[in-house]
Amino acid sequence: MPDFIFTDNPIAIHYAIPFFVALLLVEIGVTVYQQSDWYETKDTLSSLAMGVGNAIIRLFTKVITLGAFFFLYQYRLFDLGTAWWVWVLCFFAEDLAYYAFHRGSHTIRYFWASHVVHHSSQKYNLSTALRQTWTGTLSGAWIFKAWLPLLGFHPIMIAIFGSVSLIYQFWIHTESIDKLWRPIEFIFNTPSHHRVHHGSDIKYLDRNHGGVLIIWDRLFGTFQAEEERPKYGLVTNINTYNPLRIATHEWSSILKDIYRAPNWRSRLGYLFGPPGWSHDGSRKTSEELRKEVETGCVHSET
Ligand SMILES: [Zn+2]
Ligand SMILES: [Zn+2]
Repeated sequence: MPDFIFTDNPIAIHYAIPFFVALLLVEIGVTVYQQSDWYETKDTLSSLAMGVGNAIIRLFTKVITLGAFFFLYQYRLFDLGTAWWVWVLCFFAEDLAYYAFHRGSHTIRYFWASHVVHHSSQKYNLSTALRQTWTGTLSGAWIFKAWLPLLGFHPIMIAIFGSVSLIYQFWIHTESIDKLWRPIEFIFNTPSHHRVHHGSDIKYLDRNHGGVLIIWDRLFGTFQAEEERPKYGLVTNINTYNPLRIATHEWSSILKDIYRAPNWRSRLGYLFGPPGWSHDGSRKTSEELRKEVETGCVHSET
């Protein structure tokens, strides 16, 4: 393994930006030509602002993630090295860790506070892919991948597959591609599967968390096929285009809830419980909403 590959991540997300911009312009062109409603100017501008902010923050926080991984790598269980089969294994392991991270980001409000940014648009297009968190690394979302260096995967190898996953996930944020060939839809995360993930329809909530592969959702019972086109966004939309508000609104809601909570149990519930959890049952989690639909008891407030 040549040394230069490990001196820095050769496919860091920054190098992909020109390709992202080019594809984005093509999709905007198609939108204008077809007069479709895929884009909305203010929404696109705030998605781009979130993407630029994320890229700048990433320049600094990369040190935190890589530092943590190199630290843990000292205590690795196995000397896996860099043989070809280790790369193959690392791809699957990283994708599984991404699934765990993504599922955790939807089911634990502390992590949702960062990830909600990505779901805050009511549009679904290539610019939505760039609508990324500003607080993810600082709040420790990399903890879901901590087992990778401990197992013996080299931190740079992990970072490379992290970038592969992010770059892969760009093109699936589009309404322009319908369902693909069945074997592809069975194995890979596709535009159709990821549209479901961005849906606010109750049956689509917290489904299809996969990164490159969709097999993890099929294995762990979180898969949902696209039936009709989803209604995109959040169950309760935030209705703001202000990047700073988008980046921080859920954190401030958590703080407000903790301040008003009657006891420590509720304070912990507001921080580490699922989004929508409340000490008095005044709000609903995704699972509670789903149960209401299944039992045919739907309240108008949902
Ligand atoms: Zn998500
Ligand atoms: Zn997405």
